[in-house]
Amino acid sequence: MNSDLFKNSSFSFKCPKCGTNINVKVKSVGSMITCPFCNQNIELQDDGFSNGINEANKLVDKFNQDLKNMFK
Ligand SMILES: [Zn+2]
Repeated sequence: MNSDLFKNSSFSFKCPKCGTNINVKVKSVGSMITCPFCNQNIELQDDGFSNGINEANKLVDKFNQDLKNMFK
């Protein structure tokens, strides 16, 4: 597992305008997305969500580094 894989994973988000569940990428959090159904521009609010992701990424990076060191 690497952090890019995690950033490219998606989760379900409910469009505030049309109520349709759309899949958004984790890396889109904190930026604007466009609902494919009603074309509404939606700002994916970054309410601490990406902080959690950054922390998770740090752990993953550290884990990868540890693995590399292990096989030096
Ligand atoms: Zn919509």
